[in-house]
Amino acid sequence: MTPSLANEQLIQIAEQFGTPVYVYHAEKIKQQYEKLKNGFAVLDTRIFYACKALTNINILRYIKGIGCNIDCSSINEVKMALHAGFEPNNILYTSNGIAFSEIEEAVAAGVHINIDSLSNLEKFGKKYGHSYPVGVRLRPNILAGGNIKISTGHDKSKFGIPVEQIAELEKIVQQHNIFIRALHIHTGSEIKDADVFVKGIEVLFDLIPHFPELEVIDLGGGFKVPYRPEEKETDIALLGQKLKDAFDAHPLADHKKLQVWFEPGKFLVSECGYLVTQVNVLKENGKVDIAGVNTGLNHLIRPMMYDAYHHISNLSNPGGKEKEYMITGYICETDTFATDRLLNEIKEGDYLVFHNAGAYGFEMSSNYNSRYKPAEVLVKDGTAHLIRKREEFDDLLKTQLKVL
Ligand code: PLP
Repeated sequence: MTPSLANEQLIQIAEQFGTPVYVYHAEKIKQQYEKLKNGFAVLDTRIFYACKALTNINILRYIKGIGCNIDCSSINEVKMALHAGFEPNNILYTSNGIAFSEIEEAVAAGVHINIDSLSNLEKFGKKYGHSYPVGVRLRPNILAGGNIKISTGHDKSKFGIPVEQIAELEKIVQQHNIFIRALHIHTGSEIKDADVFVKGIEVLFDLIPHFPELEVIDLGGGFKVPYRPEEKETDIALLGQKLKDAFDAHPLADHKKLQVWFEPGKFLVSECGYLVTQVNVLKENGKVDIAGVNTGLNHLIRPMMYDAYHHISNLSNPGGKEKEYMITGYICETDTFATDRLLNEIKEGDYLVFHNAGAYGFEMSSNYNSRYKPAEVLVKDGTAHLIRKREEFDDLLKTQLKVL
């Protein structure tokens, strides 16, 4: 059974802690982690949670508690992971476009590192030579998923070292005797098709002869979760089997010698999250009924940034007659969450919930229009815990210096 939070519990939380509020359901994270662990059991696998999706320290601690490792995309995320109690050996830092000084800090912290440019690799080689095993992020030139805005492995993407530059890469590695432990790719997000991952691993298998000390193939994250009711998530067990078959079929690859690492973000924390809001205003604009809610692109930017769909339901009137609505935010920009959306009839003050809001929701929030960031609540074993206070006016001034 899929763990989910009941309408009544979400309303109770909204009444207790106010709105807008992000609510996370711990047991759902655990269920997703177990699907990964079981589905990939056919291979020697390590799962690193891509914490850029949601970094609340309590979520990190919960994820550590269920036995998962952590993937970081900045040195501050590395510091958050250490603060949450992860051991350096369970932390991966997959950098992109960063100053070399961040890599130096990551080495000092003793975490695993993936480097994504020839220039940083060269600096790394000069400074550390063979002494610190490292991974390289490659760009495999694969267009993954349907949405170019969240596809990162294609031939115009900024991410990774293009595979066609393998000769230059090898030259740097040999010149400085760099210990290349891992080859990494991350081709994008919301990839349902297992064959995209198979294609990716085959690109890496072909490179095995170039890296005699290779121990790890890192396939990144990007597993799909169902945002629309009719969508399906990536079938992890099928993917595990297909990857094992790819190992068996390839003359250079041995799954007993190579560990496979994954960096899922959305798959672990997207569905556990709910953004509960309240309707501020109802408007009739010609033929369109608009419900304006007390949140906006400052709290959930995915619909505006990626044209992402979030399912919305009316917690206050679940059995009511269905009507078409446009759902908009309160920000002084066009922050439309949904158009032509069928929802149970809405009154001002009703609680609406955005589903599947755990990943890249709060994490991408801002103070635009001098609005506060929302509160966060974690439900674990049926109990709701406040894990981040709603901001207050002083928070808006906290880092400002009054010089005039
Ligand atoms: N790994 C890397 C390198 C990424 O850039 C990302 C997302 O941006 C992820 C993992 C997580 O992706 P997802 O949340 O789609 O699983």
